[in-house]
Amino acid sequence: MNKKKRLSILYSLEKKCYFPMSELQYSTNFQLLIATILSARSTDLKVNKVTKRLFLLAPSPLELYLLGEKKIMEIIQSLGLYKKKTQYIYKVSKIILYKHANDIPNTRSKLLKLPGVGRKTANIILNKIFQKNTIAVDTHVFRVCNRTNFVSGKTYKIVELKLKRMVPWKFQSRFHDWLVLHGRYVCKSINPQCNLCILKKYCEYSKKYK
Ligand code: SF4
Repeated sequence: MNKKKRLSILYSLEKKCYFPMSELQYSTNFQLLIATILSARSTDLKVNKVTKRLFLLAPSPLELYLLGEKKIMEIIQSLGLYKKKTQYIYKVSKIILYKHANDIPNTRSKLLKLPGVGRKTANIILNKIFQKNTIAVDTHVFRVCNRTNFVSGKTYKIVELKLKRMVPWKFQSRFHDWLVLHGRYVCKSINPQCNLCILKKYCEYSKKYK
């Protein structure tokens, strides 16, 4: 895809929604971190259902740590990988509490040392909490980028690094949420809604409706 088309896509997304928001619900930076860890292989809707109760009982690292693994597991058991996720968020609360004086680490290397935090989660935290221009690539971003040919790549990291080069600075902080929303509601994994899509004119997906 050429630069002109890429820019047209970005301006179309901006026109539709200037400031896209994540659908995960949270009130604090710590809660964003926990909700993002829980969102691996689970929908935001499911995560919001469990965090509603979890954050009511344990809104902070101390309270989540004191809640203990057994209770955490009981609350989040409707999520995929709930046993692993229980260990992750229990350990993360302990580490944030004792090693980081209740603060969320502000560098990629420190974030990646937290249990359950991979590159995508680290990028989301750096972007949303520390206003860094990172681009998190998840399943929606990966699919929409490859399908439209906005950028192509066989791995999430390749797509991310290409996006960092090709998405102009002013769009980078909003790019992830734009593509997640577009991928979730329009450019769905099965049956993309090409006839309703605002990007149809620029998209290079060979099977799209003409
Ligand atoms: S035209 Fe179709 S394939 Fe292209 S972005 Fe839109 S929904 Fe996705």
